[in-house]
Amino acid sequence: DKGGSPGKTSAEALSGALDEARAKAVLADYGVPVNRGVVAPDAAAAGKAAAGLKAPFVVKVVSPDIVHKSDAGGVALNLGDAQAVEAAVAAMAARLAAGHPKAVIEGYLVQEMVSGELEMFVGARRDPLFGPVVMVGAGGVLVELLKDVAVRLAPVSPAEAREMLLGLRVAPLLKGFRGSAPLDLGALADAVSRVSWLAHDLGDRFGELDVNPVLVGKAGQGCTGVDARLLMN
Ligand code: ADP
Ligand code: MG
Repeated sequence: DKGGSPGKTSAEALSGALDEARAKAVLADYGVPVNRGVVAPDAAAAGKAAAGLKAPFVVKVVSPDIVHKSDAGGVALNLGDAQAVEAAVAAMAARLAAGHPKAVIEGYLVQEMVSGELEMFVGARRDPLFGPVVMVGAGGVLVELLKDVAVRLAPVSPAEAREMLLGLRVAPLLKGFRGSAPLDLGALADAVSRVSWLAHDLGDRFGELDVNPVLVGKAGQGCTGVDARLLMN
């Protein structure tokens, strides 16, 4: 039993490449935990936006031309206050103007910094033959290096997602390993199931979804998607 769809987003409302803030709104509709953030047009507005969020902050560039934000110098982590946010955006704008002069900058996403024990990747693709598949594996910068990924036809139940997780090479880290604390496997399995329903529900126009990383906390502390990208056909 896979349960029912938890979501309320319809495919009709979505088109093209959805940036981080828009993709996270769809994830939130499906009950996938994501961190809070606000898109601001410039440094001064970004500093003001921080007032409505909890420190420490993270700033990221919003640009359709910059997919790998950190490679482009478009991510600033661990900013302690509004002043630091404002300064980080000013420095980022100058860096991007020099390094990526042709990139259209739509704004700067100010968001809450999240702490976690492990970075995982959760995603979905459309297989031309089988339809939507859900994927989960070791995330962050390790995703390509480790190739530690489980793939299944969507949707999957939380119990099936748990089996996917237990088959990964990082499973010992999730379960607790040589004195390291067990992590929130249940929360991560729930998120994988919700992502699989999202891909299933969006139907033929669903292209691909990457949530990378999902930061996983200790058992009982949950998990949070801090970066996301959704492509609709
Ligand atoms: P990109 O993948 O486009 O380079 P990300 O948004 O994934 O950019 O940020 C790069 C890295 O910064 C992430 O893999 C993660 O380690 C860290 N990071 C990003 N946002 C947060 C956040 N809100 N809290 C904690 N760490 C973050
Ligand atoms: Mg990322």
